[in-house]
Amino acid sequence: KYIGIDTGGTLTKIAFLSATNELQLLAFPSNDLQSVKEWILQHASIAAIGATGGRTEQLREVVKDIRSMHYIVEFEATLKGVRYLLQTEKVDIQDAIITNVGTGTSIHYMSEETHVRVGGTGVGGGTLIGLAGLTTGVTDYEQINMLANRGTRHGIDLLVKDIYQGMDTPISGDLTASNFGKVGIIGRTDFAQEDILATVQGLVGEVISTLSIQYAEQNKTKHIVYIGSTLSDNDHLKYVMAHYTELKKHTAIFLPDHGYAGAVGALLNI
Ligand code: ATP
Ligand code: MG
Repeated sequence: KYIGIDTGGTLTKIAFLSATNELQLLAFPSNDLQSVKEWILQHASIAAIGATGGRTEQLREVVKDIRSMHYIVEFEATLKGVRYLLQTEKVDIQDAIITNVGTGTSIHYMSEETHVRVGGTGVGGGTLIGLAGLTTGVTDYEQINMLANRGTRHGIDLLVKDIYQGMDTPISGDLTASNFGKVGIIGRTDFAQEDILATVQGLVGEVISTLSIQYAEQNKTKHIVYIGSTLSDNDHLKYVMAHYTELKKHTAIFLPDHGYAGAVGALLNI
């Protein structure tokens, strides 16, 4: 039996097929690779590991005396996994931008024949946790999401229509003119944690969507597939990204197993 492991900056994702050929998925924090080793040792039937991700060398150090590893470059594994997941979900698209919101964000263009990394940004899931922690003291991922889901952004973000009061707006009035822009203009800083966290998610989601849309336009594709564990249990962030993508006339696609494209690709590579 084989498994695929994607050792990312924050999370280590594992994918394998059950006896009945169902995809099984699980994750560990990447700063606890010892637990990954213990999990592998408990599953004696694992013959070999397909590996990918930026922390693969760190994992190799921990498991080298128990199992051999077949390495595949992260971007190749991710695209292999995305193609597989699109197929199993019966999403039939000829081309798309693939935006992987991990600790940082990587953006790819995929057509039927080829794929290429087109860009990225340091604004990603790590930024979400970092800014959340610095502005509210909350660093627990689940708690950030729970609070952000209850928050509202309109007291903190400055919208285009807030500037163009009583006038026609040159672009959609609902677009953000300035993330966090109201704070300086109204001179208030006493906002609820919920609202600050919702606004942090807004900033992260809009930067990533805006950049993805520009690459979609450049590559003449309509679809943007958003993946990465940052989307896990994060309805507000997904809403921000879907809403912005639709506002700019593109189609946002989310996959159920969004966090595991790399691990699935590493599994398929063996
Ligand atoms: P990279 O690909 O940039 O090396 P990665 O592969 O570790 O990083 P992902 O696992 O796709 O990245 O996503 C990591 C992000 O997912 C975190 O920054 C955080 O925002 C979010 N996240 C989701 N679940 C958790 C969790 N249980 N603990 C910590 N972060 C989580
Ligand atoms: Mg990753």
